[in-house]
Amino acid sequence: MAVIVQKYGGTSVGSLDRIANVARRVAARKDQGNDIVVVVSAMAGETDRLIALAKEIFPIPNDRELDVLISTGEQVSIALLAMTLERIGLKAKSYCGWQLPITTDSAFGAARVTNINTNRISEDLGNGYIVIIAGFQGVNDHGEITTLGRGGSDTSAVAVAAGLKADVCEIFTDVDGVYTTDPNIVPEARKIKTIAYEEMLEMASLGAKVLYIRAVEFAMRHKVPLIVRSSFNDNEGTLVTEESSDMEKESVRAVTCSTKEAKITFMGIPDVPGTASQLFMALAESSVVVDTIIQNSSEEGKTDISFTLPQSDLEKGLEICRGVREILGADRLSGSKDMAKVSIIGLGMRSHTGVASTMFAALAREGINIEMISTSEIKISCVIKRKYAELAVRVLHDVFELEKPL
Ligand code: ASP
Ligand code: MG
Repeated sequence: MAVIVQKYGGTSVGSLDRIANVARRVAARKDQGNDIVVVVSAMAGETDRLIALAKEIFPIPNDRELDVLISTGEQVSIALLAMTLERIGLKAKSYCGWQLPITTDSAFGAARVTNINTNRISEDLGNGYIVIIAGFQGVNDHGEITTLGRGGSDTSAVAVAAGLKADVCEIFTDVDGVYTTDPNIVPEARKIKTIAYEEMLEMASLGAKVLYIRAVEFAMRHKVPLIVRSSFNDNEGTLVTEESSDMEKESVRAVTCSTKEAKITFMGIPDVPGTASQLFMALAESSVVVDTIIQNSSEEGKTDISFTLPQSDLEKGLEICRGVREILGADRLSGSKDMAKVSIIGLGMRSHTGVASTMFAALAREGINIEMISTSEIKISCVIKRKYAELAVRVLHDVFELEKPL
């Protein structure tokens, strides 16, 4: 008998009909003799609706109270699912995060799970119950309700699976797996059968929306096998697991793109120790998340520094940069929005050569200018103008032959 944790997202529990569909799936897995724990999100659109209500009162809601408010969406779904399961003759019991508890730090709106108590879950499973747990919710050491950040139910599910040492954590969503790229951009994109945690982590942080970074990090740390699949069909999904040697056969396994990027450039900064540290310290103090950074080699004692940041932080970032420009002694400062970052990802890059040159040549053939490049062992990212983003994704998917079945 296996212990299976299943997570269903907002669209999968968006109506009573859909909840009935989830209940049927849960029942089928239970019938096969497994112990089932289900983690659910709020019904589709509910979290957004609650945030909008709070913002009607005041644009920047009190973060503690916002968590009290937005955590309620999940409480509705767990109760409805438990009732639906009971209606079809199964024993089911639901729990909010604080009831177990799922303990977190106190970062309201983006809390991190620090501990999970599985005693009640194990006891109920032992008594034949299907246990349903509210995703997204936690409680801090002072008994205050916290939430794990948007999309946080994935993390809840992985945390529960890790705590229970479950055999698998199945993430049900509205797509049927992880694709070589966004099928909306490239219709020939192919579903990936097995992907390594590390690759998935890069994909999640470089723009793939199918899984949340924190959930993948958690799964990797605790070696929880994840399966991503659709709640609307029975197609085999994608397994996210530890790396194996056949994953290195292809040099590149996926192309991702994030389009909400902006860039700030300082020109003519005196090339002396401490400039970068002053600049990035000022940005960090204001919680501006900086991504790719490049510094040119210096000429006549001066250099240029560029970095990317989320487009939504551009104004804030520029303001901070204006503040430090004189202290740094920089000649000029400029900002550009409408940037994108396209990336290629694959464990195979460690052993294949010529991957970078193939990427750059493919972009060059389309006349796409690369403004910044950053690399790691298993990814290469290029910052380009946003208007070329989709074209870049298509040519890269094509040049690395990702549409070909293995
Ligand atoms: N309901 C929360 C959100 O929309 C958590 C989740 O869906 O995973 O962000
Ligand atoms: Mg959601």
